[in-house]
Amino acid sequence: MVGEAMLKFVTVEKDMPGKRAAELRGGDFGEIYSAYSDQKAAEQAGRCSQCGVPYCQNHCPLHNNIPDWLLMTATGRLREAHELTQATNTFPEICGRICPQDRLCEGNCVIELSGHGTVTIGSVEKYITDTAWEKGWIKPIKPAVERSETVGIIGAGPGGLAAADMLRRAGIQVTVYDRHDRAGGLMTYGIPNFKLEKEVVMRRIDLLQKGGVEIVLNCEVGADISFADLRARHDAVLIATGVYKSNDFKAPGSGADGIVRAIDYLTASNRKSFGDAVEEFDNGKLNASEKRVVVIGGGDTAMDCVRTAIRQGATSVKCLYRRDRANMPGSQREVRNAEEEGVEFVWLTAPKGFTGGDKVAGVMVQRMRLGAPDASGRQTPEVIEGADFVEPADLVIKALGFSPEDLQELWGVPEIEVTDWKTIKAHYLSHETSLEGVWACGDIQRGASLVVWAIRDGREAAEAMLTYLSGATAMAAE
Ligand SMILES: Cc1cc2nc3c(=O)[nH]c(=O)nc-3n(C[C@H](O)[C@H](O)[C@H](O)COP(=O)(O)OP(=O)(O)OC[C@H]3O[C@@H](n4cnc5c(N)ncnc54)[C@H](O)[C@@H]3O)c2cc1C
Ligand code: SF4
Repeated sequence: MVGEAMLKFVTVEKDMPGKRAAELRGGDFGEIYSAYSDQKAAEQAGRCSQCGVPYCQNHCPLHNNIPDWLLMTATGRLREAHELTQATNTFPEICGRICPQDRLCEGNCVIELSGHGTVTIGSVEKYITDTAWEKGWIKPIKPAVERSETVGIIGAGPGGLAAADMLRRAGIQVTVYDRHDRAGGLMTYGIPNFKLEKEVVMRRIDLLQKGGVEIVLNCEVGADISFADLRARHDAVLIATGVYKSNDFKAPGSGADGIVRAIDYLTASNRKSFGDAVEEFDNGKLNASEKRVVVIGGGDTAMDCVRTAIRQGATSVKCLYRRDRANMPGSQREVRNAEEEGVEFVWLTAPKGFTGGDKVAGVMVQRMRLGAPDASGRQTPEVIEGADFVEPADLVIKALGFSPEDLQELWGVPEIEVTDWKTIKAHYLSHETSLEGVWACGDIQRGASLVVWAIRDGREAAEAMLTYLSGATAMAAE
């Protein structure tokens, strides 16, 4: 299937400069460009042995009924397969594209475990739902009854939007507030276009709006509207604000030009995918073209940065990580993709400073080795004295993970309970916080995680909120 969305995406990639970017234009976009036809999807789905011990389903955070929708796909019942995927997942075509399946469903496929290569569950899920869009099977929400209760959701990422979808289906009046100029959260401004085309996210948002979900953009809670006002305005409130404080380290030279945060770099690149004018990209500050790029970090954000830099036409891209390959937090599949595209990983290295004065010229790197395990059992990296070197760089991207912002302080609500990490304390299943009528879900509750977990949390929170709202309405009527 090559839909309109994909064609637009190819156009964006064609505008990217550089030799490696030119090679990538050949169509080798790995995960999302595997051209699935009805026949290929059916062939893959038919490889499922219907083993009866659905490890895949158990390891999917949404407990998707994978064996059944594979069977339906294998036997040509695509519409039923679509209905089944949609029943447990708000955004199946998005998860099909960007779930780290090697750590979730596919990594636990019995065929994979027996050494015969996994059924490509994510690609089949994506194919089913892309086909449903193409055939017009996906329609805006039409609640059977309209209810008077209103819910305010702070944050239009996957957690907030999954909850909005569930609540609206039940007839609740839902308003989502987001400080960005577009909805989607990190699906829009974090995850790169080559993994998740922006049109795929935008058509879902459009569908929610057509179904009656109101989305108020450019509205920062704590600045444009207070949290207290929002609580007064709605019968219940859901906090789904994600985690946005970039982790950092202090080192000599770290204030130099050319050292940037991953979130700024990726947001600029994503904005260019929408065709926006982005001053800091256009003036070169957040553009890797023709530069020697060094990315610091070993998680999935670092992988997105290195692969974006390659597509922007960097002359070289190196990734520094203080542990070894086996111990990196990012997906091994992403590392393989990056290596195939020309990224060089420099394992067991950590930055200790930067050279070059006002403008960065290099990273001072110390070599590491893995020492004794810490309390969690993970080996601690130790510096190898006397083995330092300088890695030349024109652009350094710091991708060291994210922490929550201090909402207690920013929103003036010291009474909301938070954990030591500043994530919001909420019940693991109902997602209820310490404040009456306030729920939390997604990264702001569990810490930096995955889209699929945010969707699950949002759906669970919506269910609990519905119970609460029904109880409150019944009590008011008594
Ligand atoms: C670079 C990057 C790549 C990633 N790649 C993947 C991947 O491939 N697969 C995967 O599964 N996961 C990936 N993730 C993780 C995933 O994106 C997150 O776990 C997920 O988006 C969390 O969803 P959320 O709804 O909790 O928060 P978010 O998606 O972060 O959305 C939160 C929203 O709240 C808004 N907001 C915040 N504060 C306020 C406020 N005060 N007022 C109003 N609005 C506010 C923000 O603008 C944002 O739109 C990636 C993350 C990053 C950073
Ligand atoms: S939602 Fe993610 S983990 Fe679950 S089946 Fe789909 S791709 Fe696999």
